[in-house]
Amino acid sequence: MRVVLLGPPGAGKGTQAARLAEALRVVHLSSGDILRAERAARTRLGQEAQRYMDSGALVPDEVVLEMMAGRMQSSDAEAGFVLDGFPRTIPQAEGLDRRLEAAHRPIDRVVNIEVSDEVVTPRLTGRWSCPKDGRVYHEQYSPPKSAGTCDICGTALVRRRDDEPSVVRQRLATYHAETKPLIDYYRRRGVLASVNGDGEIDVVFESIRAACRGSG
Ligand code: ADP
Ligand code: AMP
Repeated sequence: MRVVLLGPPGAGKGTQAARLAEALRVVHLSSGDILRAERAARTRLGQEAQRYMDSGALVPDEVVLEMMAGRMQSSDAEAGFVLDGFPRTIPQAEGLDRRLEAAHRPIDRVVNIEVSDEVVTPRLTGRWSCPKDGRVYHEQYSPPKSAGTCDICGTALVRRRDDEPSVVRQRLATYHAETKPLIDYYRRRGVLASVNGDGEIDVVFESIRAACRGSG
């Protein structure tokens, strides 16, 4: 099954994509995690992406499209995938559709996680992430078992630089201007389902699972 999770920063895409991918036995592909790994490895792509990411802007479409197309061709994506953070613009969605249609592997479901800016802001400023496995926590809403360390691998958790309040404001503005139009794009294509992302993590997960059952 091939699924896209849509929603503003802080909607819970990473949290839910990890669970959904496990449940569907497909790979979780987060464009943000892949870009952060490129940065950590100091590749040319990572260095090019850095200034966009730190200011809350989007990395250019063609760069992200090539990166994600390459990743989706790997053998671990043959059974399907859950995309998180990609596509994020209309040109990215069109580029993705062209590639998947040519391969006769269209997107089965796009789940839009609906959450207001007021709800996502404290989620982002309280987020802690594992730099090793990408797992996310929240100091109040989803704390690790032992403060400051990843439950799974024990690595020290870090705050993302772009979760600082001024960058969060810019990222939300970028979302409204560039990513929100994808809701209509996918609605017109008949693959969109929307879920309320305000509830507890487990409750939101059940809504997403239900939205995926009705497709494919
Ligand atoms: P995104 O990938 O959409 O930016 P994340 O999955 O990283 O969002 O979630 C952002 C933050 O909000 C994290 O700290 C996460 O633990 C927390 N979070 C995710 N879903 C919920 C929820 N339903 N209720 C409360 N906090 C949540
Ligand atoms: P995320 O981890 O999804 O919050 O993404 C973090 C940052 O990485 C974004 O603010 C962008 O700068 C960049 N990024 C991630 N995914 C994309 C994408 N699909 N297109 C452009 N930039 C992206």
